[in-house]
Amino acid sequence: MPWPPRFLFLGNRLSVDFALTGGEGERSRWERWHAPADLADWFAACSLRLSLERVRPGELAAARELREAVWNGVQATLRGRKLPPSVVSELERRAAAADLVPVWRRGRVRWSPESTATQAISNVARDALQLFGTEAKARLRECANPRCPLVFVDTSRPGRRAWCAMQRCGNIEKTARYRRRRKRARK
Ligand SMILES: [Zn+2]
Repeated sequence: MPWPPRFLFLGNRLSVDFALTGGEGERSRWERWHAPADLADWFAACSLRLSLERVRPGELAAARELREAVWNGVQATLRGRKLPPSVVSELERRAAAADLVPVWRRGRVRWSPESTATQAISNVARDALQLFGTEAKARLRECANPRCPLVFVDTSRPGRRAWCAMQRCGNIEKTARYRRRRKRARK
């Protein structure tokens, strides 16, 4: 797999992955949604595996607004703070739209071919509310590399996962430890 891939799915949770696609300020450096078609590609690649006929520019704007709210909600939750009221109102507003509709096709469950990005965005907002408002939030983590801004849900059994990904930060740390050991050995 080429590294880094176009989209990173390291969050272990739909709404967390959604928040790791770019954003305002510093995070604009990793913007992955430049055009509505990019958001369509992201929904096809994410855990929803949703194919959308089209994404309207207004839906891309809504997705970006929700992304800020999820990111700010993650940051507040990691620091043990209450969700800011602006975050709550954005999450509730998006979650109030109709959710995706599952349909049965040849023995398998799929999303309705009429699905819209607005429904998908609602699904993400619902997922974020479930993350922040339940015990699931206790597993929210920040990568242990101080220079890495990535966050994830720790799904490991002992709950001690420290790195966003071995290929990204775990290896950097391993290499640093190896170098420190060699330096000490040479003294
Ligand atoms: Zn990391």
